[in-house]
Amino acid sequence: MRQQKDTSCNETGRFVPFHTISNGAAKVSDLQETNGGRILGADEPHPLETFNKNTQSDYFIICEHAGRRIPASLGTMGLSEEDRKRHIAWDIGARSVAVALSQALEAPLYMQRYSRLICDCNRHPDVLDFAPEISEATPIPGNQDLSQADRKARADAIFWPFHDAVAEALALREKNGLTTKVVTIHSFTPSYLGKSRPWEIGILYNRDLALAPAIAEWLKAETDLYVGVNQPYAVSDDSDYSIPVHGEKRGLPCVEFEIRNDLISSDEEAEKWAALIRQALFAVEATGSV
Ligand SMILES: [Zn+2]
Repeated sequence: MRQQKDTSCNETGRFVPFHTISNGAAKVSDLQETNGGRILGADEPHPLETFNKNTQSDYFIICEHAGRRIPASLGTMGLSEEDRKRHIAWDIGARSVAVALSQALEAPLYMQRYSRLICDCNRHPDVLDFAPEISEATPIPGNQDLSQADRKARADAIFWPFHDAVAEALALREKNGLTTKVVTIHSFTPSYLGKSRPWEIGILYNRDLALAPAIAEWLKAETDLYVGVNQPYAVSDDSDYSIPVHGEKRGLPCVEFEIRNDLISSDEEAEKWAALIRQALFAVEATGSV
């Protein structure tokens, strides 16, 4: 399968923040004077990484928690190296599945490189969990008592450049008359706060019922997997961003896949899961229901 590695939209890592969050935050130029004003250094990469950017598959893949980079300006966030590698920092294995799926579908993939501990790219910047003070049971020293300007600086540096690029790509597809189904790829820990999670894959959705329920039914009927429907999370406007904004608001069929991370610890396993997801998508597509 053809593999096309794209460059990110700005290899220098420099960009001009172009969004502001509501509630009276300072203007962008003012933020340069605050300690939250500069997040990414000139030598650090743009948050967006893409694969197969210009392919015209019906599917458009998003992986918001693909990376665990921490900008040098934020040091270690007060965390040990071990903690910075844990699932609290990123979705372990999700990037490998997303890349394999992009190859299998020859579909565009938009991934985000920085740790969700800096800013969670699947949360609106206005919600508290956008930069969590505690993740699972681990206090995040670098996120204690953040000012509005600190949070806005992170959104301007990472969140908005990533999601604006996604929005721009989806708008262009619409303009060009392309069909689009939004697929997001995540992973979850086998246990959370001491409670084990039995599901092997979760199919998550909220308002859009065109795609995800049929995927869940196919997986239940055709595999022996323990399939969670809106498990281990349910999609909501507070706990998600890509599905509500890039899928539901645009009226696009959309589905969020959550795979248990102990099942995708190698590229080979990731490829098997990607092949299964492709099979499920195509099987549902073949029914003509979406
Ligand atoms: Zn995730």
